[in-house]
Amino acid sequence: MTSSSKELISIVIPTFNEEGNIVKIYTELEKELKEIYPFELIFVNDGSTDKSLEVILNLAKKDSRVKYIDFSRNFGHQAALRAGLKKASGACTISLDADLQHPPKLIPEMLKKWKEGYQVVYTIRDDTNSQTSYFKKITSLYFYRLINKLSDTEIEQGAADFRLLDSKVLNDINSFQEKDIFFRGLSSWVGYRQFKINYTPNPRLWGETKYSFKRMILFAITGITSFSTRPLTFSIIIGVVISAFTFIYALYALYIKIFTDEAISGWSSLIVSVLFIGGVQMIILGIIGQYIGKIFLEVKGRPDYLIKDES
Ligand code: UDP
Ligand code: MG
Repeated sequence: MTSSSKELISIVIPTFNEEGNIVKIYTELEKELKEIYPFELIFVNDGSTDKSLEVILNLAKKDSRVKYIDFSRNFGHQAALRAGLKKASGACTISLDADLQHPPKLIPEMLKKWKEGYQVVYTIRDDTNSQTSYFKKITSLYFYRLINKLSDTEIEQGAADFRLLDSKVLNDINSFQEKDIFFRGLSSWVGYRQFKINYTPNPRLWGETKYSFKRMILFAITGITSFSTRPLTFSIIIGVVISAFTFIYALYALYIKIFTDEAISGWSSLIVSVLFIGGVQMIILGIIGQYIGKIFLEVKGRPDYLIKDES
């Protein structure tokens, strides 16, 4: 069978200040795919301030398989992913990063699994031999532990936004109304037949990471609050535990007061308990606030990104 009689494959690449990577990833993808499938490459320019857009437009001029979406400003990786996935028209769609950390060499294998009948082929980053920074390894380890404790949706340690989705699954996901999408959780939540591939990430080809520590924390909070309301039950548990202790202590204090001549002196215990309760209340308010904030953002119904131009 020649490649032209086969179904179209879509590739989605969120791009934010990646001018030095775009041509390289285009070349690599074209090398992997040209023999086996017809394809379209969708670059989503997420408000880059460098020459990324120019490079993409140049490619699109030369090669009609290159499509693009240009955001009106930077809306973030997940929003870019979402826009790209909405535009994809292939029989299956693969998303990957522009920096070549997700090796395009894996794509033929992913497509093979898809042909075998798997509707989701996801990848797990294997950090043991890679040059990923120690800091990133540790934060990522604890992030996945925490998220799996707090949520009913299992997200595997090292899950990456490098995955293949069958058009059936993609149609489902595209029909979701929620704005604040966390794809790593969602692609596990959808079910279907899933296949896992491990890969060793390459070092970033050019430029530097866009995920600062602050962004990673925000990303983690999105991950947790998108998939679970379990943090809300914390307040109940903590409340019950503290009340139980307080009750026992009250009995003790009453006993001393009624049956002995002593009095419990208590500046330290008083101030410690007041501050402790105050701290716990603030934390719980913060957790509730996160969810209310989410409701607010969803209810407003404002789009999660704006498109300035697309092909
Ligand atoms: N990205 C994006 N918008 C952003 C931040 C990142 O589209 O606001 C893209 C970026 O161009 C890259 C991918 O998302 O293709 C992953 O970003 P990065 O490589 O910086 O993350 P890391 O691999 O360090 O986690
Ligand atoms: Mg990267």
